[in-house]
Amino acid sequence: MKDQIIRKILNGLIYIHILHHGSEGDFYGTWIMEELKEHGYKLSPGTVYPILKSMVEEGLLIREDKIVNGKVRKYYKNTEKGNELLIELKKNLKTLVDEVM
Ligand SMILES: [Zn+2]
Repeated sequence: MKDQIIRKILNGLIYIHILHHGSEGDFYGTWIMEELKEHGYKLSPGTVYPILKSMVEEGLLIREDKIVNGKVRKYYKNTEKGNELLIELKKNLKTLVDEVM
């Protein structure tokens, strides 16, 4: 139960994390998975790819396929809408952190 609740909350925070990196430039799935792992989020490809896919469908990320070493690699970066949402989320997050921390 506790684990489920923590997971639910952290899933929302993953959005902010992904948008943060998507605002700095493009990244690919394996890279963001490694990056999240370093921050203590151990996520499987079965979790990360559906999140990226829905963020593309929601118009927050744009996907671009590039050929790297003869293989197709999917790169992602923020759309204008993604950047705008990030700014808003950061404001909310700051207000929250200022209050509870
Ligand atoms: Zn990061």
